[in-house]
Order: sequence, then C-alpha cells, then structure tokens
Amino acid sequence: MKLAARVAQVTPSLTLAISAKAKAMKAEGIDVCRFTAGEPDFDTPSHIKEAAQRALEEGKTKYGPAAGEPQLREAVAQKLQRKNHLNYEAENVIVTNGGKHSLFNLMQALLDPGDEVIIPAPYWLSYPEMVKLAGGKSVMVATAAERDYKITPAQLRERITPQTKLLILNSPSNPTGAVYTPEEIRALAEVVVEKDLLVVSDEIYENILYDGAQHLSIGAVSSEVFERTIVSNGFAKSFAMTGWRVGYIAAPVELIKAMTAIQSHSTSNVCTFAQYGAIAALEGSFDCVEEMRQAFAQRRQVMLERLNAIPGVSCPQPNGAFYLFVDISKTGLASLDFCNALLDTQQVAAIPGIAFGADNCVRLSYATDLTSIEKGMERLEKFVMQYGN
Ligand code: PLP
Repeated sequence: MKLAARVAQVTPSLTLAISAKAKAMKAEGIDVCRFTAGEPDFDTPSHIKEAAQRALEEGKTKYGPAAGEPQLREAVAQKLQRKNHLNYEAENVIVTNGGKHSLFNLMQALLDPGDEVIIPAPYWLSYPEMVKLAGGKSVMVATAAERDYKITPAQLRERITPQTKLLILNSPSNPTGAVYTPEEIRALAEVVVEKDLLVVSDEIYENILYDGAQHLSIGAVSSEVFERTIVSNGFAKSFAMTGWRVGYIAAPVELIKAMTAIQSHSTSNVCTFAQYGAIAALEGSFDCVEEMRQAFAQRRQVMLERLNAIPGVSCPQPNGAFYLFVDISKTGLASLDFCNALLDTQQVAAIPGIAFGADNCVRLSYATDLTSIEKGMERLEKFVMQYGN
C-alpha cells in the first residue's frame, strides 16, 4: 500500500514505545518502577464524575455544537477572566478533544507551507510533529539547564525571520518543569509585540506549581500581546481527567471560527456528557487540585533529593508540572541506550530525552507513589554507578 508522504515524516512516539514495554513487563509480573507517566496517578474527583453521570441520566448523549456546549464555553471564558485576567467571552473559546487536539487544530487553522514556528527546546514531543503535519517548519531554540531551560528575549529575537508566524510557549513545561517568572514573560511579550508574532501559550500545567512560583498568562501583559495570543489548556493534568479528552483554546473569534470549521469536518463535538464533567471541574471547589498539587510537591522533593545525591547525574529544581529532566551526560550514554539498559537491567522506566530534543537527558515523572520513587532511585543509583561516577 502506498501511504501518503506525510506519514513518513511523522516520528513515532518514543514515549509510548518505552511505556508499552514497561507495561508489558509489569503484566508479566516483573516489579517495574515506572516513571514514564504523563498523567496524574489520582482518580478524577468524585464531584466531576457525578456531574458527568447526571448528564448521562439527563440524556446529554446527542450531537452537540462543534465548538462545544455553550455552558462550558461560558465557564471557560469566566475562568480565563477570573484566574488569568484575560478578557475572553464564550465566542472566543472552542472546546476540543484535549490539549493535544487543540494544538493540532490550531496548526491546521494557522499554518501555510513554509511558515515557521519557534519552539524552545527541550519541547513537548508533539509540537514539531503537529507543525510538520500542517506543512509548517519548526525552528528549535536550544535552552540550557543553567538557565533552567528557558529562552531569553535575545534568543527569540535572533531566530525570527520574515517567515516566522508563531512562538510556542509552554510554562510550566513538559519535559523540564520550568516555569517562566512574570518578569521573564513580560520580556518575551515585548518581543512578540515588537516583531508582530503570534504566540500560543500552552498552559496545561498552570495549576501544578511549587515554591511560590507564579503563573502569568502572556496575554495578560498588555492589550497588544493579548491580540496576538492563543491560550491552549485542558482538564487532563489539573483535574486528573486525562482519559476524558476535554481541552480548549481561547483566541480571537476569527481563529475560533476557522478551528470550528475544521473540527466540524473531523471530530465534531467533544463527548457531550464529558463536557458536563468539565463544567463541574471549573465551577466546583478547587480543593482537589490543591490536594494533588501537595502530593506532587512532596514526591518532587523526595525524588530530587535522592537524585541529586547520585554522583554523575544532575537536575535543576523545577517549579512546575510533575517531571524531572535529568542530565545523564556523565554516563557517556545516549538517552535511548540509557533508558533501554535501565529498564532491562534495573526494571526502571524513564523517557529518553531525545524524544524532547535533548539526547543528554532523560525525563522522570513523579506522578507515582513514594514507595516506587524510593525504590526506583535506589535502582537508578546502582545503574549509574556502573558508569564510573
Ligand atoms: N501540552 C503539554 C505540554 C502536554 O504535556 C500534554 C500532555 O501530555 C498536552 C498538551 C495535551 O494534553 P491532553 O491532550 O491530554 O489534554
């Protein structure tokens, strides 16, 4: 069969490959410590599940508007006004099948062949693939551990060309956990306005912050940057709703209309009753979000302390999300070899940094229990010691 040329350009997900291998080992009864999860290990809070159950009982089981249930679009706009100081109305919001689908649709609606998208590296592995699938060109900007993996305004300015259309900003970041300070966001916003770029702010981890870190949505900096901002967010990470597949984009109406047209010919509306769960998430108590955040904070501390006590690996202290991005250069191994050997010999699963554009690192998720973290760090230490550090 001759497949479309675009398929050959897509890189298969390394995250899924290693996770699948670890899962298969676990199913065989092997005691695997899995640090691969890109999702909270908690169940969805009960008031959210109950709202979806009620919606099912009330017959919210039919097709709905492609852009989302009006009540959810309104609740999202209210949340963006209240929490993020962004002046959106319901018409500025489209509900999507998760944050991933938001960004995929966005690239389809925005990019023409040859348009350039600036992506700070390390990056979430789906960004470049989405850009490629829309015919665009990714322009990676390397960041360093010493600068907490954040790009500077000067670096951004340097990479802008007449073809630059969009900057992707992801704070808190997957895979590094880096959080841009409000000052850093303001400095990047200046360049966005000066160079007349669009910026998509992927804020899916906005509620998972530590040590007093503050999340500033770039569109809140000024009306000039607000006009150029697209906010991408979802319910998966904050509310432990990864399987529900509900996300959203907020943006100028023209873009929302374009994305709705694409969505109406692809997925149509997001699962109707799931959207009622999402409404309950936004309108209910945020205590559940805070409880999960506190659990992540404790795990982060334990993992970080254990990890930084191992000679030969290092990791800056991240202020958000639930990942540690660990520098393994001193072992002399490439990240995929490191992860395969770690899984085969010590039964510890991690994601190779090459998937995120950094072959000298691996990503460890601490969205797992403390016992596994303690055990996994002991095994990791044994593994790293073999490499003479
Ligand atoms: N953005 C980032 C940075 C992510 O890490 C993820 C999930 O891993 C997403 C977006 C998409 O999340 P979802 O499609 O589950 O809402």
